[in-house]
Amino acid sequence: MQYPISGSCQCGGVTYRLLAAPKMVVACHCKECQKLSTSAFSITAMVDAADLDIQGALQDWSRKAESGNTSAAKFCPTCGNRIYHYDPANPSAIKLKPSNLSDTRIIQPTAHVWVSEKQDWYQIPEGVKVFDKQP
Ligand SMILES: [Zn+2]
Ligand SMILES: [Zn+2]
Repeated sequence: MQYPISGSCQCGGVTYRLLAAPKMVVACHCKECQKLSTSAFSITAMVDAADLDIQGALQDWSRKAESGNTSAAKFCPTCGNRIYHYDPANPSAIKLKPSNLSDTRIIQPTAHVWVSEKQDWYQIPEGVKVFDKQP
């Protein structure tokens, strides 16, 4: 893969460049992620804040995670596309929602979490780590 890879929300109001490979790509099957993604699971790429260069205004939203940590979200105020999540207590660890990258070949989850809430019709691929909840 060649870095940087550019990304953009659906309306183009927010654009960004991912400067380096993610540390890990995870699929989450929890109900919150099903709402967020309007699909069976959401995908997160773990990246350093220093490896992400974002242009455009973002809006915030946050909720409490089951762990008691805060799950904060940044999204485009115009089209609502979620750009990333983070814990305000550890803002350098970015949980990028990578489906809006221009080249999505890096989106190959090596771990699936919250499979206790997984849709029955989705079959976990072989060779990935599987966790009932948040590891
Ligand atoms: Zn947008
Ligand atoms: Zn989730």
